[in-house]
Amino acid sequence: DQAARWTAVDAYLTDQLAPADEALTAALAASDEAGLPKIAVAPNQGKLLHLLARVQGARTILEVGTLGGYSTIWLGRALPPDGKLISLESDPAHAEVARLNLARAGLDQVAEVRTGAALDSLPKLEAEGVGPFDLVFIDADKKNNPHYIEWALRLTRPGSVIVVDNVVRGGAITDEESSDEAIVATREMFDLVARDPRLDATAFQTVGVKGYDGLLIARVVS
Ligand code: SAM
Repeated sequence: DQAARWTAVDAYLTDQLAPADEALTAALAASDEAGLPKIAVAPNQGKLLHLLARVQGARTILEVGTLGGYSTIWLGRALPPDGKLISLESDPAHAEVARLNLARAGLDQVAEVRTGAALDSLPKLEAEGVGPFDLVFIDADKKNNPHYIEWALRLTRPGSVIVVDNVVRGGAITDEESSDEAIVATREMFDLVARDPRLDATAFQTVGVKGYDGLLIARVVS
């Protein structure tokens, strides 16, 4: 069937271009063992994040939604040794698994996981004067996507890149009548991005091991 085909193609693409290594495999295994949900990005999507950060020449990265640190490892590996990644995670158990995974990947000097609701951590980052970030990856509670876009704008600079995961949601994104708060909020986020002259963006549909979904990629213009 269709899903099996998508999965087989993802396996082929991943084998060819984004093969796992010890730290990535161990990160997923440790996440499974700790009972974390299997909702990390796919390997080829992790590689996309990595390449975007590299092409961008990112030295500072902000991630909203760490889980077990799988996407964090892909992003952290794109940074120079003196680079900095801050990842925000509300669940202390997830954050703990992520910290161990990042240490195993040799990224504990570069990547910091901050525990707490992102909407509490983001104003603290601003107050500390951390940033601007060269790349922001938004992948947490979807109902707060409009807030996360607004915060990303406060914590970036012209030329920064903002990526948002899960913006198609099996096609449900077109449902104007949806009562699903993730859909309602993500539609609101699209309205914000589309109207804000500070952002230039596109989004595309993806299929694969993660099913049918999509990514939004925006550049901060001014
Ligand atoms: N980016 C991760 C990856 O690809 O490996 C996956 C992140 S997972 C989809 C979403 C994470 O966001 C979960 O670990 C969840 O606990 C966290 N989360 C949910 N609500 C949050 C909030 N308000 N603030 C920070 N993190 C939150």
